[in-house]
Amino acid sequence: MAELKSTTFTFPPRVKGLKIQGCEDLFPVGKIYCVGKNYEDHAKEMGGSVDRDQPFFFSKPPQAMTQAPSIPFPALTQDLHHEVELVVFLKSPCSNIEPKQASQHIFGYAVGVDLTKRDLQTIAKEDRKPWDLSKGFDNSAPISNILKNEEVVLKEGDISLSVNGQEKQASNITHMAWGVDEIISWLSKFISLHPGDIIFTGTPAGVGALKRGDHVDASIQSVGDLSFELV
Ligand code: MN
Repeated sequence: MAELKSTTFTFPPRVKGLKIQGCEDLFPVGKIYCVGKNYEDHAKEMGGSVDRDQPFFFSKPPQAMTQAPSIPFPALTQDLHHEVELVVFLKSPCSNIEPKQASQHIFGYAVGVDLTKRDLQTIAKEDRKPWDLSKGFDNSAPISNILKNEEVVLKEGDISLSVNGQEKQASNITHMAWGVDEIISWLSKFISLHPGDIIFTGTPAGVGALKRGDHVDASIQSVGDLSFELV
């Protein structure tokens, strides 16, 4: 068999990079996983409950992430919802690990918003279809600069989101049903995790609709702030 000699690509690979606080280098985005129903009050407002036996996940593509201050209002929705979430960034490969081993793989944290086309998601749920088009559209994952906080399992901190200065979501990450270390462990049993992989850890209650022109401010204590406008 002929040996592969080429080290070039037919066209440049698309690598999404995210800004890190106090660092020139960018964080290269790998896979993005999002936990559903990780706060009891949000699970309840969606008409469900937290599953104590196992968390569940869905994905967004790397290009969903944006650090732009202005985000074009997405097409094909009448009900775009905000979901503020603690986001975890991984720095090393891991597979089938226990929660106590998870901390060594943590690179840092950021404030993210899991933008959701709730109308499309509701239809998908009813039809037992996947959520990709309601969750993984362009710019569906606005994110703050990353706070490098290596090997720390964040367990508490106020998390909030306001729209046009009015508070809509306010909770504390102590209310997560599944902790950061448990989420990483659980995911690592199903799939190999790698440096660059990112996990959205779920949203508290208070999700609601956004419209063009809205200004969103989100914040997590000891992690950072995120602001953007829908244009
Ligand atoms: Mn979410």
